[in-house]
Amino acid sequence: MRRPLVMGNWKMNGSLVANQALLDALAPVATECSGIDIAVCPSHIYLPQVSSICEGSAIQVGAQNMCDQDKGAFTGEVSAEMLRDFDINYVLVGHSERRAIYGETDVQVAAKVEKALQKGLVPVLCVGETLEERKSGDMQQVIETQIRAVLQHSTIKAFAQLVVAYEPVWAIGTGETATPEQAQEVHAFIRDLLAQESAEIAARTTILYGGSVSAANADALFAMPDVDGGLVGGASLKAGDFAAICRAAQGSL
Ligand code: PEP
Repeated sequence: MRRPLVMGNWKMNGSLVANQALLDALAPVATECSGIDIAVCPSHIYLPQVSSICEGSAIQVGAQNMCDQDKGAFTGEVSAEMLRDFDINYVLVGHSERRAIYGETDVQVAAKVEKALQKGLVPVLCVGETLEERKSGDMQQVIETQIRAVLQHSTIKAFAQLVVAYEPVWAIGTGETATPEQAQEVHAFIRDLLAQESAEIAARTTILYGGSVSAANADALFAMPDVDGGLVGGASLKAGDFAAICRAAQGSL
């Protein structure tokens, strides 16, 4: 059985004081929700702080991005080994904001996934369509292309270790959420795509939904058979909301 995962993407938010307060509030929730995995992804600069606060707790830590190279003249970048130095478990790869604002391509995303796996990190591969792509009927093609880039680079074996996050771009930070049925349709599509390569691995791959997940909609989303938890942006900055989302995942067991 797949273990639910709720992951907070703090994006470019937080401060030393705010991070401490948020994690203090979440610590008992993580203990209470022992049937699920919980992780938070702060900005790189706060990873040492957050990693140290979370040491020994049930909250795991992820980074929001990493470089696909090992070391050297890549100003401003952070390598997988540097993340490992701070006991980071997860790394978001190919978030739609990285793709849209910083021009990350499927090829770069696939290279990052491979590098993260090589270095013992769990990549969270973000995929999803824009509203235009959905309206024009290209949704499945777009998602298939994003997934196939990783299959081509790393084979289906990568999906035995990574996490997929389906995040429709039109639902991120907009307050507009995919309905549980819309999310289920795409999650099942992704799992079927993976099953063409290995039914066994497809059945084990964790697929998160992301896009305006909230305390109000988490129960219904997590009740869907192929939705294995959530990647949560805005609501992960509010302890009460994030706690309710974690409890919804625990309740889906
Ligand atoms: C995200 O940034 O991954 C995200 C899902 O954001 P939000 O929950 O705010 O839509």
